[in-house]
Amino acid sequence: MTQQITAMRLAAHGAPEVLKAETLDLAAPGPGEVQIEHLAIGVNFIDIYHRKGVFAPPLPVPTGLGMEGVGRVTAIGEGVEGFAVGQRLAYVGGPPGAYATHRNLPVARALAVPEALSDRDIAALIFKGLTVEYLIHRCAPVTKGDTVLVHAAAGGVGLIACQWLHHMGVTVIGTVSTAAKAATAKANGCAHAIIYTEEDFPARVAEITGGTGVKVVYDSVGADTFAKSLDCLRPRGTMVSFGEASGPVPPLAIGLLGGKGSLFLTRPSIAHYTAVRAEYEAAAQNLFAAIAAGVVRADTITTYALGDAAKAHADIEARRTSGSVLLIP
Ligand code: NDP
Repeated sequence: MTQQITAMRLAAHGAPEVLKAETLDLAAPGPGEVQIEHLAIGVNFIDIYHRKGVFAPPLPVPTGLGMEGVGRVTAIGEGVEGFAVGQRLAYVGGPPGAYATHRNLPVARALAVPEALSDRDIAALIFKGLTVEYLIHRCAPVTKGDTVLVHAAAGGVGLIACQWLHHMGVTVIGTVSTAAKAATAKANGCAHAIIYTEEDFPARVAEITGGTGVKVVYDSVGADTFAKSLDCLRPRGTMVSFGEASGPVPPLAIGLLGGKGSLFLTRPSIAHYTAVRAEYEAAAQNLFAAIAAGVVRADTITTYALGDAAKAHADIEARRTSGSVLLIP
């Protein structure tokens, strides 16, 4: 049975204003799908890349947006096992389309969620927390006593990284654009906050580490920070370039990695670290355990009504937000 839903969609790539509310007919869930009513929806910088059309190839338009959410199951498609009508679930990935009151979702992306966690907490932490989970445990693992550099440390991913790494006994050097964000990062476990819009961050990292450099740089800023980040690494350190909030990283001559100390470089995506169902579930369990233990927390959340998605995008792009950003249907 079809039902009418409201979705924020775009007909062409562009500025936040291309996001418009539309009333649509949603078909019954197909084979292998569950239909959900969203309770809270996470906004991620990846949605901004999708909206702008900067990925190659860009998302075909017209399209919905949004890669994560928390919802309650309203209908079950043929062949679906393990989920029941009325059950709450969360998801990361699948076809973009979370910015909607309801949607159909491949059940392969659905995760059962602990009852104790609020809708807001899960939506604030599931995508960004799973990103941190794979970055610090599986992509470039670190351990007690290590020192790392986390760019945009007061952002959504950044704050969770500070919390989790601090708990593990890793010293976090973070970069932020303002003194207020420096205070937020420090309150979440960042030992040294560098205001990279005012200070030369490689010089500060050298000073903090006594000239040694860090084991890993987790760099989601891209164009503005990539080259200088290589100068922050110790020999045989790892450069994790996992985002491009300031623009794409220019082409690189790989000889540079040798000259700067036999460095490792990776450009990971959460898609490849959660593609295998068993890994996806194990990562979620790891995250839920960290949340239950109070290691990872949704202390800093900004919420917008679903219809204000364009404003949410504008605020994130203008670097006005800290922590996680949610849309509430
Ligand atoms: P954030 O909340 O971190 O927002 C982005 C932050 O980047 C801003 O707050 C800002 O912090 C900083 N920034 C630096 N330069 C710019 C600029 N020119 N324009 C805008 N922001 C800038 O977003 P998310 O937590 O949603 O995502 C963080 C990053 O992680 C993104 O780059 C995203 O693409 C990436 N990501 C990658 C994944 C992957 O698997 N590869 C998965 C999930 C996220 P400040 O003001 O302090 O400089």
